[in-house]
Amino acid sequence: MKSYFRISDIRSDLESGSVSCVELVRHYLAKIEENKHLNAFLEVWGEEALEKAAEVDAKIASGHAGRLAGVVIALKDVLAFKDHKVSSSSKILKGFESTYNATVVERLLAEDAIFIGRTNCDEFAMGASNENSAFGPVLNAADTSRVPGGSSGGSAVAVQAGMAHAALGSDTGGSIRQPAAFCGLFGLKPTYGLISRWGLLAYASSFDQIGPMCKSLEDTMLLTSIMSGADGNDASMDQQPNRHYQAANPEKKYRFAVMRQAVEHPGLDSQVAEKTRFLLEKLQSQGHEITYFDFELLDYMVPAYYVLTTAEASSNLSRYSGLLYGYRSGDAKDLETTFTLSRSQGFGPEVKRRIMLGTFVLSSDYYDAYYQKAQKVRRIIKDKTAEVLKQADAILIPTTSTPAFKLGEKSKDPVAMYLADLFTVQANLAGNCAISLPLFENRDGLPIGMQLMCSHFQEQNLFDISQELLNIAKE
Ligand code: GLN
Repeated sequence: MKSYFRISDIRSDLESGSVSCVELVRHYLAKIEENKHLNAFLEVWGEEALEKAAEVDAKIASGHAGRLAGVVIALKDVLAFKDHKVSSSSKILKGFESTYNATVVERLLAEDAIFIGRTNCDEFAMGASNENSAFGPVLNAADTSRVPGGSSGGSAVAVQAGMAHAALGSDTGGSIRQPAAFCGLFGLKPTYGLISRWGLLAYASSFDQIGPMCKSLEDTMLLTSIMSGADGNDASMDQQPNRHYQAANPEKKYRFAVMRQAVEHPGLDSQVAEKTRFLLEKLQSQGHEITYFDFELLDYMVPAYYVLTTAEASSNLSRYSGLLYGYRSGDAKDLETTFTLSRSQGFGPEVKRRIMLGTFVLSSDYYDAYYQKAQKVRRIIKDKTAEVLKQADAILIPTTSTPAFKLGEKSKDPVAMYLADLFTVQANLAGNCAISLPLFENRDGLPIGMQLMCSHFQEQNLFDISQELLNIAKE
């Protein structure tokens, strides 16, 4: 089977009859079997995907197939798919099945996408390496001694290793972009409010966004178009109907803003720095404008992010009490021990750490010192980001300061792990859209991602500029 990089190629082969949806699904199922050791999937819906494929084949024959006919998609284990298990890679949701579809699931199904399985991730999407899953780590297919990034590590590896054509992830502080960068994919964190969060198991609601992880920019645009747009079930959204992102070639000269503190950061890997310099020089030589700006707040971003997200998480995760759904401790004797034992046995160590941090920063004695202060820092970061983007079309920085790190390298040191989010949390704190582009590899063949960030709801610009970067990096 040939490897497809674009949905449009799948479509033309389906229409010419050179491939069928059933053949495609069989192919991906074989790849999943072959790559079991990567631990990317928690569950594979093989039979069902084959049945759905046969239905879609019939639709193609009758000329009524949707835009995602034959597109095999993996779902991060944080998205509700009716009558299917969803667990956030946690023991606390043991046995839980969703009773409804997430809006994104509904919209993709309406276009005849085929879901092949749910992917491993960090428990409750808390992590940057996929080592926090209750079901074991995911391995990076480029080098199995390395992490795929997190928290959407299983989704990234599913696409990287050809086990699905595309995948959905969620991004609260980098969980789509960082694994996309580590696995050589396109990963979009849409503007906060572009895509409905209905049916997404919440981590930090004012940060979370769902987005696509793909092998091409074209597919990223198509999936984003289909998933975007108003949804009465998510009150925090932009109320516009869905958008139609398209490849455009405006042949414009762009103004790029580069954060000096990021590109001169002491923790920046030398090959990532080298590629960044190369890209900036190329852009300049093609007539684009590069300006450097100072962002003294860089060192405050990760702390502000962790104060606010743990606060929100501690409240969101209070619903997992052992009473309503999921895991209930067999040792519980009364209401109190149902709560305490179910939660202490059901949640993993990182989730517990964050719940404790979150309740601490929200407690009355510390609310002003931590939570309020972090809210103020968030506001300043948002304003500063908006100000920079008034003078520039996009902010350009590497997605991560290093390529994929080794399994176990940071798992004993939570602060080192939190710092892996250094370049990605800004877009979530400010709500902007941001994309990671798979532009380079280091000398060992490990992918290096470059990140673009644009103003709120400027996804079309983000895609246009991404195309320009792809053209330039290819030359
Ligand atoms: N690594 C970050 C965290 O652990 C980001 C996670 C995410 O975006 N879901 O919170």
